[in-house]
Amino acid sequence: MLLKCIKCKKEKEEIEFLRNKKIRKKCKTCIYLEESESRKDKMNGTESGDLFYVRKVLLNQAKARSKRKNVDFNLTLDDLANVKNKVCPISGQNIIYKSGIDYKRSASLDRIDPNKGYISGNVNIISYEGNYLKNRNDIPSTIRVMKYIAQNLSPTELQKLKEDKRYEELFLLLEKF
Ligand SMILES: [Zn+2]
Repeated sequence: MLLKCIKCKKEKEEIEFLRNKKIRKKCKTCIYLEESESRKDKMNGTESGDLFYVRKVLLNQAKARSKRKNVDFNLTLDDLANVKNKVCPISGQNIIYKSGIDYKRSASLDRIDPNKGYISGNVNIISYEGNYLKNRNDIPSTIRVMKYIAQNLSPTELQKLKEDKRYEELFLLLEKF
């Protein structure tokens, strides 16, 4: 379902709005941007103020989520300061440590072992989009996606990949499924 943001006037997926109904009319990007601006004003607009803000938001979100999901939480800002991923290991794109820029590429907190909570050593910063993909896929579904893509490639594109030695074992694997 698409909802229209009253701030940027863009129609976006429901997932891009916060769950709280009172503020649902503004998309997350606009809300974070507003919060970030007010935070930056307080911190004289420094880059580190932005980074600090993003960590703080991640921490607060994790805290709220851990309550909702009833999982352990013992993270501190220092734990997040130690995670310095520049590139999302899933999307391969740079992670943006600024709020309200490109929502899909913005930083999000991933629990490495989903059976454990938001605890020291069990979190990684990946892009929002990467997190979305990870949480909706496991190995079997990822293989189905790859197979589907491979089956629908043009013969030229497929040939190009098949000639690339790096993908040799991947195509052998896909044939098994
Ligand atoms: Zn908006």
